[in-house]
Amino acid sequence: MSNAFSDILVQRLVSARYVTVFTGAGVSAESGIATFRDLDGMWSRFKPEELANVNAFLSNPSLVQSWYQQRKRIVTEAEPNAGHRAIAAFERHFLERGHGFALVTQNVDNLHQRAGSKNVIELHGNLARNYCFDCNRDASEEEMHTKTDEDSVQCVECGGLIRPDVVWFGEQLPAQAIEGAVSAARRSSVCLSVGTSAVVYPAAQIPLLASEEGAYVAEINVAPSAIASMIDETVQGKAGDVLPALFDAYKEALSSSDESYTLN
Ligand code: NAD
Ligand code: ZN
Repeated sequence: MSNAFSDILVQRLVSARYVTVFTGAGVSAESGIATFRDLDGMWSRFKPEELANVNAFLSNPSLVQSWYQQRKRIVTEAEPNAGHRAIAAFERHFLERGHGFALVTQNVDNLHQRAGSKNVIELHGNLARNYCFDCNRDASEEEMHTKTDEDSVQCVECGGLIRPDVVWFGEQLPAQAIEGAVSAARRSSVCLSVGTSAVVYPAAQIPLLASEEGAYVAEINVAPSAIASMIDETVQGKAGDVLPALFDAYKEALSSSDESYTLN
């Protein structure tokens, strides 16, 4: 693992016609929300796996709703960091050049969108949304605020339980999101895998699929992930340091390649 990115990566970005960025919780670490450790007080008694599943929700909906409302407060109070912003800058730049770009995220924190990313494929949902488990109707934020300590929020139309729009352990990923992610991975010439341990499947398949289809795949992580040995390049460092530097190097290489083109 190197702590600098290669010239090859920069050149591949310059010549790429389609780029996929794949992100995990590590990209939000520098915003202070990478782990569940901020959930102190009564929440420290629970493991996330014990709350993030259907059975936990059905046996104690009020508790699980409160936990997600608390997580939502934490991410709402957090700010996107330089890593999120660099990914949004890459997207704008690629689209302006008439090329394709997709961001596939496992995060549910909405920070990519708040940093300005537009084409965000959410594999695991988004804490910002809630819906009725029975009739599928979207629930408004006002409805969620009717929650009391003891009682769960129920659907105003059918009386069903309101759940967060996130993918729980044991649940299927949203079909449209996984299809969009697979098709983005397949057409990519470069894929960046950022801040993910790459152990949660099928999400972790995305960079590997891009690699199989011939993309140059680079990872940016503070430590090697589970797929580090299967990809082209691993860059050791924080997303908030490496991504802005990579964007600057890409822009610089792009302007010098434009100049040589003009000179010819
Ligand atoms: P993970 O916790 O398994 O892995 C995080 C990775 O980020 C690790 O490989 C770690 O080395 C790396 N990392 C930590 N700080 C970093 C930094 N500053 N820069 C770059 N890399 C850094 O997370 P995961 O791979 O996303 O998978 C776990 C699951 O947990 C996902 O399904 C996700 O839905 C969920 N989750 C989401 C959030 C969120 O939305 N912010 C938070 C926690 C968990
Ligand atoms: Zn309903």
